[in-house]
Amino acid sequence: MIRIEDVIQKVESNRPESNIDLIRRAYLFSALHHRGQKRASGEPYLVHPLAVANILAEMRLDEMSVSTGLLHDVVEDTLVDLETIRSYFGDEITRLVDGLTKIAHISNLSKERQQAENVRKMVLAMITDVRVVLIKLADRLHNMRTMQFLKPEKRARISQETLDIYAPIAHRLGMGKVRSELEDLSFQNLYPQEYKKLADEVDARRPELEATLEDITYKISARLGENDVPFVEIQGRVKRLFSLWKKLKKQKISIDQVYDLIAARIITTNEKKNCYIALSVIHDIWTPVPERFKDWIAIPRDNLYQSLHTSVIGENGQSFEVQIRTQEMHQTAEEGVAAHWKYKESKLGRRDDDESLDELRKTVEKLLLPLVENSTEDEDSEDFIESLKLDLYPKDVYAFTPLGKIIQLPKGSTPIDFAYAIHSEVGDTCTGAKIKGRIVPLKTELQNGDVVEILTTPQSKPSRDWLNSVITSRAKNRIRHWISEQQRAESIDIGRKLLEKELNKFRISPKKMLNDENEMKRIANEYGLGRTEDLLASIGYGKTLPRNVLAKFLGAEKFAALDPEKKEETRIQSGMKAVKKFIGLGEDAIIVKGIDNLLTARARCCNPLSGENIIGYISLGKGIVVHNKNCKNVAQLMVNRERIVEVEWAKNDSKHIQSVRLLATTENRTGMLAGITNAIADIKTGIRDARASVSKDDKGMIEITIEVFDKKHLDKVVNSVEQVPGVIAVERLNI
Ligand code: MN
Repeated sequence: MIRIEDVIQKVESNRPESNIDLIRRAYLFSALHHRGQKRASGEPYLVHPLAVANILAEMRLDEMSVSTGLLHDVVEDTLVDLETIRSYFGDEITRLVDGLTKIAHISNLSKERQQAENVRKMVLAMITDVRVVLIKLADRLHNMRTMQFLKPEKRARISQETLDIYAPIAHRLGMGKVRSELEDLSFQNLYPQEYKKLADEVDARRPELEATLEDITYKISARLGENDVPFVEIQGRVKRLFSLWKKLKKQKISIDQVYDLIAARIITTNEKKNCYIALSVIHDIWTPVPERFKDWIAIPRDNLYQSLHTSVIGENGQSFEVQIRTQEMHQTAEEGVAAHWKYKESKLGRRDDDESLDELRKTVEKLLLPLVENSTEDEDSEDFIESLKLDLYPKDVYAFTPLGKIIQLPKGSTPIDFAYAIHSEVGDTCTGAKIKGRIVPLKTELQNGDVVEILTTPQSKPSRDWLNSVITSRAKNRIRHWISEQQRAESIDIGRKLLEKELNKFRISPKKMLNDENEMKRIANEYGLGRTEDLLASIGYGKTLPRNVLAKFLGAEKFAALDPEKKEETRIQSGMKAVKKFIGLGEDAIIVKGIDNLLTARARCCNPLSGENIIGYISLGKGIVVHNKNCKNVAQLMVNRERIVEVEWAKNDSKHIQSVRLLATTENRTGMLAGITNAIADIKTGIRDARASVSKDDKGMIEITIEVFDKKHLDKVVNSVEQVPGVIAVERLNI
């Protein structure tokens, strides 16, 4: 049994500056509160926190971690609460204990859900402090080492969980030693018979394997010595049972076909060039298997692992693997983040608010996020892919703000969802997004680990299109809310303009009515509406006719007297304001009669061409839509006469090009397409696209997109195409 003095001795030798008194107090506190409790083995419960503290001391962690190891089950399993812990041990330890308690304490959830929750909580807890997971792993490791006293079902359940969650986390953090032990213990407890069978098979070969290994390591050390390659140690090992078992199962091979059943490891002094020199020595002794060489030194794995791997064929035809790494790389391979953290900490002193800890936190995030990712992105060995099958969280994606705040969103979310998740105002004023420093489209699907920077400008507003690229209800609701506000503002604006137009018709100054607050409100009330804006909005939406509103303002008698329709005047009066508006950028200008300050857009249905007869329709959201007067949709729009406005093409000196699609129906003979395109080219007209097909009734169908300036130009083109022999008809298609 481990004694507290053993633990203290380790801490003292690893970290001479440590606060040993804190550890002693934690020990006494734990002993006091776990007093009388027993483990399944019958031993006093205190054995467990002591063993956990010992594992942490062996990882060379600090006194805070070791003390928390002693206290980790106190809140969970005794009557002590967090506030008591705080009063005795301060905020830091309380936070660590709380992080651990939260991980353990999950009620009534399904197994999958519970695992998913566990992983999520651990990842989140680790973002504040990586020690939480190191302590949790130490806790799990001791429980796995001592599980022989539990019932088989419980052993199997805990082992499965260890394989699914804790071993992959250890792997992700680069803690090779902990991971291997967790895996082998899980294998043994989950599949006891298969474990026994495989162990027997390996044991039967062991004397022979060990003799070979001894040969190999002897030869390596001799040759390295001859070549003056400085090395610290040569290790020989037989493949671990769990990874061997997985390989046999996966590749359906026998134990004698495994190329890396045995392996040698060269640990050089801390200069990486020695690794490459050692490699050349190895390749000089034995023939390498080319595709098995991996340089994890030049390209480290994301879990910080670095090493050279090569497989060679030995004298008796037996292949084996040689791994070559420096001492420091070896420590990282065994201890992972724990080694990294220690290094940073000892170098820079205090942990709290330390830049180095912040850096470590980022590393940990980077290492662990893929754990909650559903894809198996992992690099080389099948071993990892198998153990990373953590399809625990297919529905969520974790992304970060540039300051490192984690934002959890459903899978498929975009930067707009992200922006709204930060704050509704950030969403509303979002103009763009950067992921990992690069500008991306706002509809980009976020991936786990993305660092997302939202670009905003204060004047910017949400767009209706965004509804197609968001999936969170929060974003959807905000955008919809904004659209309805926006539509209302727009309809008030349109309503006001329609009313002004009507007033102009009656030769009444718009101000006279619109500025008369009381009168406007009275009329609004007559329509059952509360405010002037409501009345204008109602006109804008087309629910209320401006003519009728005016009648209420003037009274029946005056209205009849002034009614211009009775005087048979033209709808548009001379001397009214006319403004030039442009469709698109630098395209044909259009004069809109009688109405000021509205956007214009070219109708998609008929794509009117400069010089053609056109008419404008006041639409919600798009301003004035300009149609070809002959467009079939215009007849329908006429129902809403109030919204029709007269528009005409502005006289424009510069000519602008516009695309028009034509369909020529021809006899089915060769050379038609060439004939038509030649005819068009002859009158110096650009062709953007031309394609020919044959119709069911054996006619040639030639579709051409041409570039014309105006109606006159188009007529000329149509005319010349009609002259081409074999052309039956030419018609204009909509864009
Ligand atoms: Mn425990």
